[in-house]
Amino acid sequence: MHYNSPIVRPQTDANDLFIELTVGCTHNSCTFCNFYDGYPFRVADWKQIEEDLQEAAAVYPHTTKVWATGGNPFALSVDKLKRFADLTKEYLPEARIGTYARVNDLYHKSAEEIHILHEAGYDNIVLGIESADDDVLSHVKKGYTAEDILRECKKLEEAGMPYRIIYLGGLAGAGNGEESARRTAAVLNQLHPYYMFLTTVAILPGTKLHQEMLDGTFKEETELERLKEFRRLIQDMKNPIGVFSATSTDVLAFTAHFPEDKDKVLKKFDKAISTFSAEDEAYFNARRHAMRSV
Ligand code: SF4
Repeated sequence: MHYNSPIVRPQTDANDLFIELTVGCTHNSCTFCNFYDGYPFRVADWKQIEEDLQEAAAVYPHTTKVWATGGNPFALSVDKLKRFADLTKEYLPEARIGTYARVNDLYHKSAEEIHILHEAGYDNIVLGIESADDDVLSHVKKGYTAEDILRECKKLEEAGMPYRIIYLGGLAGAGNGEESARRTAAVLNQLHPYYMFLTTVAILPGTKLHQEMLDGTFKEETELERLKEFRRLIQDMKNPIGVFSATSTDVLAFTAHFPEDKDKVLKKFDKAISTFSAEDEAYFNARRHAMRSV
């Protein structure tokens, strides 16, 4: 198998078969991200892709889940994505394909084309929207707006493509977390992603956001503020959704499905918030600052 850049995938997809479709990220400009520093975006060599599929088929012919690796392979044209799906089907006929997409990867794909890609094998596209608060999106240079998120996710829904999203807490900075969560929920209440990953940012040395923190132009949210931000998001979200919050950056780990688990999860947050101590703050903050990836 060939892997020419770090493999980044959702926690729930760790057991997929990883096939390198692209290297790096077309954007590579989010101020908090260091995933693909030093790995300019490119499409993997088609010969390499076919060799990897052949190798996998020889060992795991009944593979059901392929994760197409790269920062945002969905940036590729519909033709290239279809070519990858057809090759995958040739060697692994039972497999469905998951991958990351940026919101702007969808701009030039119609709902019909996205539907064709779904029929061809793509499933469970993951969008790291991070937030739907325009102040946050602009500050961290995400490269799209809340309106773009709304329009393109509605297109995914029209195409019948199931999708998941990532919310990255803490990006709004001190004093702004709850308002940012409120704005994000207002957008998400118009959409129907079936799953959400809740995580909160670790501000990594070498990133622009870290430099802003050192300059004093960005003040980090406390751990308690991040708890309150998540609580606000959960409280305000109305549509049915599965939620996964179990990363090493979250104070409270849980998996749940809303609305049925909502009250139980809100009570967990209330308890954690009301008993959060200075020692807890110091412990979780030190753990976060020891991280070297988001
Ligand atoms: S967060 Fe995602 S879109 Fe932004 S630079 Fe990193 S990989 Fe690219």
